[in-house]
Amino acid sequence: MKVIKIGGGCLKDGPAAGKIIKLISKRGEGDVFVLSAFYGVTNILIAGIQKALENEDTIPSVISKLKSLHHTIIKSLIDDGNKRKQLSKDLSKIFQELERYYYGISFTREATPRMKDMIATYGERISAVILSKSLSSMGKQSCCLLPEDAGIITDGKFMDASAIMSKTSKNLTAALDSIITPQKIVFIPGFYGISESGDITTFGRGGSDYSAAVVAASINAEVLEIWKDTQGFMTADPDNIPHCKLIPKLTYEEAAELSYTGAGILHPRTVEPVKKAGISIAIKNTYNPDAKGSLITKNAHTANKIIKSVSYTADIAVLKIYASGIGARFGILSQITENLTSSGINIRSVVTSQTCISLLLSRKDIEMGHQSIKKIRPRPFEKSSIVTDVALVSIVGEGLQNNRGVAAKCFTAVSDANVNIEMISFGTSTAALYFLIHEDKLDTTINVLHDIFFD
Ligand code: ASP
Ligand code: MG
Repeated sequence: MKVIKIGGGCLKDGPAAGKIIKLISKRGEGDVFVLSAFYGVTNILIAGIQKALENEDTIPSVISKLKSLHHTIIKSLIDDGNKRKQLSKDLSKIFQELERYYYGISFTREATPRMKDMIATYGERISAVILSKSLSSMGKQSCCLLPEDAGIITDGKFMDASAIMSKTSKNLTAALDSIITPQKIVFIPGFYGISESGDITTFGRGGSDYSAAVVAASINAEVLEIWKDTQGFMTADPDNIPHCKLIPKLTYEEAAELSYTGAGILHPRTVEPVKKAGISIAIKNTYNPDAKGSLITKNAHTANKIIKSVSYTADIAVLKIYASGIGARFGILSQITENLTSSGINIRSVVTSQTCISLLLSRKDIEMGHQSIKKIRPRPFEKSSIVTDVALVSIVGEGLQNNRGVAAKCFTAVSDANVNIEMISFGTSTAALYFLIHEDKLDTTINVLHDIFFD
């Protein structure tokens, strides 16, 4: 049995969803599909929370926007008027529930993490019903299984939950055993699960990739396919390097590193569950479903080349914390990281020396992070500063750590292009080398690196 994830990018509108329905009906019998919301829906749901907090009069228009978006899609998916009516009736119950949650927020003037997560899941709840009913209307056997009914159990952390695999696996295996047949097409809404105390908890934005990986690992699927509107992992971002090439095979580590630096193909945590279970991930392009795409497995050395991709993120900033003898000072790092964690700030990476701790944060978090650490008492550092005009570049390839000359080749090329390297992180991952440069030099850097490693 396969587990197949369909992303919001493939569910942009009625015609796009129609194409997916055709593909599923041809290839998906006996498989389990984990879905994203239709394109843009989660954003509308989340924006609606803030609007409801400010003014309850905004609620009807948010609901009607969502209704009309979905009804347009339904119209192009289901021809039979009666079947369409029945589906609209089923959906109106779901919209009613959602509306009540918005009024709850507006009435209490409070959007708790519990409420926010509950509301955010409605896109997936709706897309799963629509796709399942569309296939039924074509005479296919299909059904929709909600994560709370299937028993996808989480650790209860709102907006950033992780699945508890042992329990989830037991529950899901039992739930699917009783419904799956060689003809059946099963849809599971992605993005969330339920905690042991019964709270709906999401896996974070973009988390339906992770959901699919959790489902695949839980039922020991033959493969996890990710259906996307792109070819797969590339040797660079096609926006920077139009002639970049597809990477046919990657290791789990390579895929995880590339997801981290913004290749945007997979949610960074997708690899975790499937790697443990030894299940491969195949990235499939829905515009060309017979193409090979990228395959992620344990062993993926394809050529004698080590480097598989040059990647980057501009969503990075550095929080520099100066203190003396950092390596000899007990607890200084934990004081700082605990402070940032309690302010809700994620640390993307850390590089330290004896006199300076450099924390890499998302740009949106940098100001708040800086203010936050200044409040630590007694202050464990001498001074602090931030750097925002940087970009993080990485070269990724399994084996770069223990092969002589890769780093030298990389840095020589960068230096020959007159780019100054501001910070390096090398050796902590077997599959990636990271460094910071001035953001103005990003294009030049990506180009020279792609040239020396791929042309
Ligand atoms: N719909 C959710 C989001 O937009 C989850 C996902 O698409 O993966 O974040
Ligand atoms: Mg997504």
